[in-house]
Amino acid sequence: MKVLVINCGSSSLKFQLIDPVTEEVAAKGLCERIGINGSMISYTPAGGSKIKKEVPMENHTDAIRLVIDALTNEETGVVKDLSEIDAVGHRLVHGAEEFACATLVTPEVKAAIEKCCDLAPLHNPANLIGIEACEKLMPGIPQAGIFDTAFHQTMPEEAYVYGIPYEYYKKYKVRRYGFHGTSHDYVSERAAAMLGKAREDVKVIVCHLGNGSSISAVKNGKCVDTSMGMTPIEGLIMGTRCGDIDAGVIEFIAKKENMNIDQIMKMLNKESGALGISDGFSSDFRDLEDAFLDGTSEDATRAMKAFAYRVAKYIGSYVAAMNGVDAICFTAGVGENSPILRTMICNDYLSNYLGITLNEELNALRGKEVDIATPESKTRVLVIPTNEELAIARSVYQLVK
Ligand code: ADP
Repeated sequence: MKVLVINCGSSSLKFQLIDPVTEEVAAKGLCERIGINGSMISYTPAGGSKIKKEVPMENHTDAIRLVIDALTNEETGVVKDLSEIDAVGHRLVHGAEEFACATLVTPEVKAAIEKCCDLAPLHNPANLIGIEACEKLMPGIPQAGIFDTAFHQTMPEEAYVYGIPYEYYKKYKVRRYGFHGTSHDYVSERAAAMLGKAREDVKVIVCHLGNGSSISAVKNGKCVDTSMGMTPIEGLIMGTRCGDIDAGVIEFIAKKENMNIDQIMKMLNKESGALGISDGFSSDFRDLEDAFLDGTSEDATRAMKAFAYRVAKYIGSYVAAMNGVDAICFTAGVGENSPILRTMICNDYLSNYLGITLNEELNALRGKEVDIATPESKTRVLVIPTNEELAIARSVYQLVK
């Protein structure tokens, strides 16, 4: 069984060919700068080295064609022909209230994704283009979609409703949806396994901390709250996104700086978060962490502290939402790789009321699943590398087997 997992952005396309049963990755790669000068494809077959070349790609159909050529190449390919690919799984961003689980792509499903384009104007159109390119070049191979919002569809109304006139929900479905759902689902499932318990018996908080960051409360295997909202700008402080903000700030800055709503949204999405708080020092947590540890930049220190504080504040609110917690899980680029941020979050804010103590030797490990709390710790702290591609491949397998 082989599933081709596709993650299609407006100018990029990531892919992995995965066996969902053995969990082996046969090959993976990335098409970049699609439709722009200098398009590149990189391709790495299992056990082989990375092949990177510049090839013109006018659109996503060209990109998919190159992916198929790479996978079936006589020397470096990993399948003889397309008949060895059993299904394609697409990572899709916004499924609104239409999709609560993985789904096979049909004309009706495509129409429903299109309906959700208003809610994710940057992502859903690109996702649809990816699906259509695959349908054209891989006819007869089942296509499935897995939505970033799906796992969060179990949130109760009190968690997803915004404090604005209800008519906007009724008219436009304005509400919290949440993102990174595949990761929150995968990590919370692994957390239960690491705790040696059934998913139905545990309360976990998943901190997906990357360039985009979100946190979720998962009670008995179901998401009950998450920090991203109708769009991915809400919640935690991120690389360049502001996260939670007083709506009054928008009006104040717009008037002072004579900015329109598009300029304001660009500032809040691209110039804010850690980049903004560090006064332009960096949006990359490696840079911020290095400067913070060396004590060379007050700007980096400010961003690191504000980031850790916001995560800790959300953890506190989710302990309340679930009336308890068994484990705090860290995942994604920052969550998996930054012992210092885990220490700041746990030692400065969670040690007393959650009774957390960290084993700093275990906290220094990288790249594997590990419980970094001491045996005495009253709450477990788990580092769990996320694997969205594998989670997608597994869901697709369940659908098509
Ligand atoms: P996204 O998928 O949202 O683009 P990732 O999950 O790949 O983000 O995370 C990217 C972030 O992880 C970057 O800010 C990067 O600096 C950070 N990161 C990666 N490795 C480390 C590390 N060793 N220490 C601290 N931060 C790291």
